[in-house]
This record gives sequence, structure tokens and C-alpha cells, in this order.
Amino acid sequence: MRVGILGGGQLGRMIALAGYQLGVEFRFFDPNSGAPVGQIGQLVAADYGDTKALEGFLDGVDVVTYEFESIPLAAARFVAERARIFPPLEALETAQDRLLEKQLFRSLEIPTPEFAPVDSLEDLRAAASRIGLPAVLKTRRLGYDGKGQIVLSDESSVRPAWDSLGSVPLILEAFVPFQHEVSVIGVRGPDGGEVFYPPIQNVHREGVLRKSTAPAPSVTPEIAALAIEYCRRIMDRLGYVGVLALELFAVDGSLLANEMAPRVHNSGHWTIEGAETSQFENHLRAVLGLPLGVTTSRGRSVMFNILGHIPPVDRVVAVEGAHLHLYGKSPGAKRKLGHVTLVAQTAGGLERGSADLVAALGLGRQGD
Ligand code: AMP
Repeated sequence: MRVGILGGGQLGRMIALAGYQLGVEFRFFDPNSGAPVGQIGQLVAADYGDTKALEGFLDGVDVVTYEFESIPLAAARFVAERARIFPPLEALETAQDRLLEKQLFRSLEIPTPEFAPVDSLEDLRAAASRIGLPAVLKTRRLGYDGKGQIVLSDESSVRPAWDSLGSVPLILEAFVPFQHEVSVIGVRGPDGGEVFYPPIQNVHREGVLRKSTAPAPSVTPEIAALAIEYCRRIMDRLGYVGVLALELFAVDGSLLANEMAPRVHNSGHWTIEGAETSQFENHLRAVLGLPLGVTTSRGRSVMFNILGHIPPVDRVVAVEGAHLHLYGKSPGAKRKLGHVTLVAQTAGGLERGSADLVAALGLGRQGD
């Protein structure tokens, strides 16, 4: 079996590493000829608008998936007319636009922060007075890792925020004073069978994920079940196939949906060692129509992202139970270069291991 993957970043690389064990072969498509997947698989390096290159990429491929949600829709549609592609394009199209995404959540009775589309300075002023400040102004499309968003703290920040983002369609969202950020990762097969990982607790700084803990220590069983139910509603509505991640804010005993990702997700990297079947293998099982794997956790896991520069490898691997993953990327400010996961059987063991890891990684006390 050969799977084609649109996108050649670390997520594609980890899907391939999981798939090689199952005897699956991979071909990647990425505009960057230096994409890290080139080290481990066949890479077609061309622009997404290059239909000849896309045709070559599709030749001999059984099914296509993607690891990057900002691939141009035109390229995804070109592929869909010639090959099977999962997750479905409606999921991709919805996830690419924060307004469509929040409208989908609302239509499924999944609570979200208050929001309003913003296409002019007048819209922004009206939305700010209806929603109240503080609020977060975000580009509807192509934002990730905190890029393309500005917090409006008071009236005086409205005009500068508009000047800096206003050239593209925007959305204004109420600023949520959340207690925790939570994500839930579900997997759906073509027969409608579904499995879910236990919800995950995430710490972001400057919009970038720093740390994930699973199962989420601050989430009650009721809230965990609710998170899973929301994820299930979205997958069912979209006739979804593959891994879907849903990010939520936990606030005062309830959940507000922030965004979804129609792909394997950074907050699920712990599943490689911390769950019976990793999100990467389960994504492949789903798109290949194989039975889905058990998602039970093997203990308690914590994952830290490695950003910007590579820490001393000898110190990191010296931490008992630590599993280091480096992606083969060159260092750069805030670039995701790797991650490390630690699995423990007790809360105390996780705490001790985390403290050792934080020291080895040279992070702040909270691990961020
Ligand atoms: P996003 O790109 O929407 O995932 O935003 C990146 C991060 O910014 C989130 O993980 C939160 O930490 C923060 N953030 C985004 N939207 C809001 C909001 N409406 N209220 C409070 N914090 C937010």
C-alpha cells in the first residue's frame, strides 16, 4: 500500500514512521525541497499550483491524506477529483476559516466564545462594543501558533489592531479567562466506527503549545465525556475519516470550543509511547480502512515541545522514561524542532520525571 501525504513537516514524518511498521510506503508533496520528510521518504517538491507535479505525486498512490491544514483548497480539490483523499474536503475547508469553524460548532450546539465576523473598522467597533473588551482579533484564514491575532485590551487598541490585520477578513472573539486549555483527539473510520483518546491538558505560551499532559489532570470525568461528545458530533456531521483534534477552553466547569484541526495534532504526540495505539497509526488505519486501534493510555504522560534550539541530547535521554523525538529540522526562533514524552505509572512519578525533564530541557519551572 502506498499513501500520499500533502505536506512534508514533522507530522507527515511521524505518520510515515508509524506506517513503515505496517508495511505502508509513502510519498510526500511539499513546496520545500528541504522538507524533513525527504530524509525518510520520496518527496515531490513543487508548488501546490503545479498540477503536473501533483499528477506525478498521485501516480501509484492508493489513498491521499494531509498533514497541514493550510494546503490550498484548489490543490486538494484537484487531488480529490483523481484519488481518494481523507479527511473529507469539507473538514479541510471548514478548518481553514475560523468563522466557518465556529458556525459549525454552533450549529452542533457546541458552545464557543462569543464571536463576530469583521470586514471593516465599523464592524470591528460594533463587534467590540457588543462582545466587550478584552477580545481577540484574529485573521479568519492562515493563522496558526498565535500568528495573525491580537488581543484588544481597551478602546485604544482597536484602531492599531485594525491597521495591522485589517487587510484580510477577520473575526473578533471574546477573550476567555480560561482555567485550562484542553484538547480531544478522535479517530473515525470509513464505516463510522470511532475511538477517542483521553482528553489532554495543554499549556500554550505566545500562542505556541509548550506542554501537554494526558489524561488531563484537571478535567473531571463529566467534562472529559462532554469533550469527547463534542468531537463525536463534529466527526459525524462531516462523515469524517481520520484523526480530528478539537481544542477547547475549560472555564467555570464548562467547555468552549476554540478550533479544530483535521489532522494529527501536536497535543497527541504523547500517544506514541503513552497510548496503546498512537494517533499516527490510528490516522493511517482510518484512511486505509483498517480496524482502529485501542486508545487506552498506558499510564500518565507529559510531553514538552522542543522549540528554537536543540537541548543537550545526553541530558534529555538520561532522564528515566524520557523518549526524545527530533524532527531533522534546522534551528530557528520558536521553530518546533522536536518533542520529548515521559510516561509514568503514578502522579508522583510523573511529577518527579517532569521536574528532571524541565531541568534537562532548560525550561522555566512550569515547563514553558
Ligand atoms: P489559536 O490559534 O486560536 O489556537 O490561539 C492560540 C492560543 O491563543 C490559544 O491556545 C490560547 O492560548 C490563546 N487564545 C486564542 N483565542 C483565545 C480567546 N478567545 N481567549 C483567550 N485566549 C485565547
